Amino acid sequence: MKYLKFKNGDQIPSLGLGTWKSKPGEVYDAVREAIKIGYTHFDCAHVYGNETEIGQAFTDAIQAGEIKREEMFVTSKLWNNRHKTDQIKPAIELTLKNLQLEYLDLYLIHWPVVIADEVNYPSNANEMVSLKEVPLEETWRGMVELQKAGLAKHIGVSNFSPSKIDLVYKDSGVMPEMNQVESHLFLQQPKLKSYCDEHQILFTAYSPLGSSDRPANRISDNEPKLFENETIKSIAEEKGVSPAQIMLAWAVNRKSVVIPKSVNPGRLKQNLEAADIDLNDDQMKRLTNLNLDYRYIQGDFWCPEGSDYTLESLWG
Ligand code: NAP
Repeated sequence: MKYLKFKNGDQIPSLGLGTWKSKPGEVYDAVREAIKIGYTHFDCAHVYGNETEIGQAFTDAIQAGEIKREEMFVTSKLWNNRHKTDQIKPAIELTLKNLQLEYLDLYLIHWPVVIADEVNYPSNANEMVSLKEVPLEETWRGMVELQKAGLAKHIGVSNFSPSKIDLVYKDSGVMPEMNQVESHLFLQQPKLKSYCDEHQILFTAYSPLGSSDRPANRISDNEPKLFENETIKSIAEEKGVSPAQIMLAWAVNRKSVVIPKSVNPGRLKQNLEAADIDLNDDQMKRLTNLNLDYRYIQGDFWCPEGSDYTLESLWG
């Protein structure tokens, strides 16, 4: 396993297990299996609805002597309906209770959007709350307090553009330590990656395999398919590994963190092994040429007509 370093020297394993869409009923076994074969890094979120079961898997694995808490790196995320000052600490406390942990290694603001308290996913503009009402600066100040209180060792953001990171940094004087964003061979995000590198913000690539199990209403007709790409397939053949392993190895070789989701024992194993595959300059160059700036998670669900949010304001 390769590791990347936070500014204070703490390390994060370059590859972790994604848990979005891992259903209660299957995620327990997936996490237990992952720990048995050597995963130590887990990407969770309150909104995934499975933290209770993941927490039970952590506790059982620790009690069985398979892993120690201090060997684990656990991330979770503040959901969009808990951005107000007085909601932030109760939100992390609930996540910690569900995960059966005393602290998180990393806590992220999940999205730079706010939705009404009682809503999980908005269906219309009335369920969105303007950033003028609950600004990102307020939410980030709350995150800084959590870190000071020791509830999260590291704090960061997700789906943030450079201008939004600048905003929260200028207000608080505290730079996010991580930006977790969609990134894969068809959405390499070179400008955002350079911005993060320059500011010593670690970069996590989500949906690194193209998130083919995401809800059907979020899948566009004729979207490009990573698994059908000839360059990826031919480099996989050259290396004697799978196309998925090439996608993950590319991310690790460019010094990003990558968090593929799987609940299948064979794929859990091959994904973990991908972190140790080295690609040469020629292979990296051929892969870098595949960028299409294509987003699978488009974010249009945060921009219902009549709300303050547009795709330009979301990603810009
Ligand atoms: P992903 O990891 O790109 O793809 C998951 C899909 O790929 C599943 O259908 C999985 O099926 C399959 N798969 C896994 N390994 C494979 C392999 N070796 N060969 C072929 N297929 C394979 O998608 P994702 O879940 O969207 O992204 C990963 C993680 O990133 C999430 O789970 C979540 O933790 C995080 N994320 C964060 C955000 C955010 O807003 N911050 C957004 C999206 C995702 P099986 O399970 O059957 O193996």
